[in-house]
Amino acid sequence: MKYFTLISFFFLSILLSFSQDFDTFFVDKTLRIDYSFAGDSKNQHVFLDQLSQLPLWAGRRHNLSEILREGNGQIKVTDVASNKCIYTDAFSTLFQEWITIPEANTAKRSFENTFLVPFPKNKILVEISLRDRKGTYVKFSEHEIDPNDILIKKKGLKDIPNYTAIHQGGAIDKAINVVILAEGYTSSEMDTFREHAKTTCDAIFEHDPFKTLKDKFNFYAVETISEDSGVSIPRKNIWKDTAFSSHFDTFYSDRYLTTSHVKDIHDAIAGIPYAHIIILANTDTYGGGGIFNSYTLTTTHHPDFKPVVVHEFGHSFAGLGDEYFYDSDVLDNTYDLETEPWEANITTLVNFSTKWKKMLKENTPIPTDPKLANKYDVGVYEGAGYSAKGIFRPATDCRMKTNTCKNFCPVCQRAIEELVKFYTEQKK
Ligand SMILES: [Zn+2]
Repeated sequence: MKYFTLISFFFLSILLSFSQDFDTFFVDKTLRIDYSFAGDSKNQHVFLDQLSQLPLWAGRRHNLSEILREGNGQIKVTDVASNKCIYTDAFSTLFQEWITIPEANTAKRSFENTFLVPFPKNKILVEISLRDRKGTYVKFSEHEIDPNDILIKKKGLKDIPNYTAIHQGGAIDKAINVVILAEGYTSSEMDTFREHAKTTCDAIFEHDPFKTLKDKFNFYAVETISEDSGVSIPRKNIWKDTAFSSHFDTFYSDRYLTTSHVKDIHDAIAGIPYAHIIILANTDTYGGGGIFNSYTLTTTHHPDFKPVVVHEFGHSFAGLGDEYFYDSDVLDNTYDLETEPWEANITTLVNFSTKWKKMLKENTPIPTDPKLANKYDVGVYEGAGYSAKGIFRPATDCRMKTNTCKNFCPVCQRAIEELVKFYTEQKK
């Protein structure tokens, strides 16, 4: 009995020593760090813009010094005194998409990016690294932050927009906090917005594994008011004055709806508990965008509103890749076919063992013929990531491939479930 007690005590103290990390290094507030990412296709730079403090921390409290899903970049926070990594996170950016388009060969541009980290008790070193096409991380910025710096502006203490909880799965410090924001809704359209926010939440929970992990999420509808109704559609010469200045035709692609006004988004929700952002655009024009650990932006009056918002949330929340392609997409430049992409649900087979290899039935042919889809619900089907050749997806259909499919494929489901656990449970 005594032996058992000692063992129990030993394990308990290990658990405590892990779970104490948050309180050891952080207070229950957020340090918001704004950057400008600037440059062109050849040279990129990351410049520190502004620091601010938000009144509470609504991000993860577990596995703080680890990354589960990589993105196109990483932020790393080191405690200066102990030289210990105390927080890290992955992200993707619009800037890194822009540098792949022809315009970036002849012009230099800058893009806003904002990252949230728990507010440190002591001096920290913050590093920003970006992933190149070959998958190598290159450090672009390194700077110290003193939490007592008088120039850290306190935000979120007043002028907080109305917000309501539309789903409450747990306490703020135990659940994943998602905010749904209004874009292009005037003050008289807030009833409609709240309905759309509820539809969004319901659509996400119609999909596994979100359905079974409902208790791990909080969803809040935030009534961010726009001057004009609707959003900007540049190809039709329609420009609207909206809360986040979003527009279609991003990078001259009709359906690509984004905003580069990232600081406006974070300013609007300072003081509200959030870690993930969904923005609903009040228009019937088809389109959207989802950037990993940045935001989902999608349109609400289109018949495909529900599948699209879930698809985009697959990008922005879980870092899933697009499983679609068109037969004409042969020389798309998005992915390097000799590098394993970081997204959990697509592969170039360069390093397939890090993907869903273990989920394949014995003797599954690689690549898998789509005619055998009934036999292999998980396979290696060619065509994904905007390329008909050289990139493979796990299933013939998936929420990350078409709007008609009802579910995420088994590999996407596993990827989402792993991430939810990583955010909400201490790894053993
Ligand atoms: Zn999938």
